[in-house]
Amino acid sequence: MGIGILGRAASPLALFFSQTVEGLPVCLSGYLLKSRSRFLVYPSAKRGAEELKRAYKNRGGQSPVGLVLKLDESSVDRPMGGWKGGFMQLTELKWTEVSKLSRDMPLVFPIAAVEQHGPHMPVFTDSLLLGEVVRRTSQSLHGRALFAPLLWLGNSHHHLDFPGTISASPRTYLDTLNDLAESFVPHGFRRFVYLNGHGGNIVPSQQATFELRQKYRSRSDLLLLSVSYWNTGNPNDADASFRQTEMAHACEWETSMMLRLRPELVGDYAVVAGVDSGRGFAPANRAWTTPDRTAFGHIGYPSAASAEKGEALFRVFAAGVAALLERVIAWDGKEWDA
Ligand SMILES: [Zn+2]
Repeated sequence: MGIGILGRAASPLALFFSQTVEGLPVCLSGYLLKSRSRFLVYPSAKRGAEELKRAYKNRGGQSPVGLVLKLDESSVDRPMGGWKGGFMQLTELKWTEVSKLSRDMPLVFPIAAVEQHGPHMPVFTDSLLLGEVVRRTSQSLHGRALFAPLLWLGNSHHHLDFPGTISASPRTYLDTLNDLAESFVPHGFRRFVYLNGHGGNIVPSQQATFELRQKYRSRSDLLLLSVSYWNTGNPNDADASFRQTEMAHACEWETSMMLRLRPELVGDYAVVAGVDSGRGFAPANRAWTTPDRTAFGHIGYPSAASAEKGEALFRVFAAGVAALLERVIAWDGKEWDA
């Protein structure tokens, strides 16, 4: 089981408990309570100790393992390092805390971009949207995945005709992605997820995982994944009113999410003429620069956007990413399928 969480100095009660949870090696300074299918970890010393005492009392002094207890984040009194409302952030951990983490804890690298997003949206769109997907996703994970800081520099050379775009060359970017995981492999971490929020990063992130796998080909315990958040769920299942059936660029979907997240940054999207994604030379993949396909930088139908659609999109994608990470957490460390 992939339990990996740490907190501030634990009370003797919590330590005693964590050492005796069904004999599992979970001697962590958090507060572990098992629900039907997983352990919940209380993020604060005080709150966790109170819940444990109550659980012991209610069970007549017996172990509270098996009790279903709710994690009430709103009542958290003192967040532990790296924890923000269920969000385990690498940036807030000390190296000594990282060193105590379970090596089965998924490490998530959110990768996005700074690039033009049509005449109506800011260049930080992809990073803002992925950041929100990560924030929402982390709420349901209760600290069981560790999130690296979002990498805003992406592979955006196809957008360089539009000022404001910042791009790493494809090979530079590929090396960078490799190095993200390479920073953790020597310390024993083995479950890596590149969580992508930008189309130009798809191929490099897939290539990075491919190269890492070949480099460590004798290892059978490595899990190397790349996924774009918009592929984790189908918004059209949740709301049939979408005009688009897939992600485009500065489009109905992205504009909707920005209207939900940062409406003050969205320009007059209602007058922006739609640009069809087109068929190109499908099924062949035709290489392109943005001016090949659009004069103003967007592809899709921004005028069909709404904040309500944006909320629906965020919900579908956050749930989809969370479901994937649950599979990563539940992986037995050996099987191909999960
Ligand atoms: Zn975008």
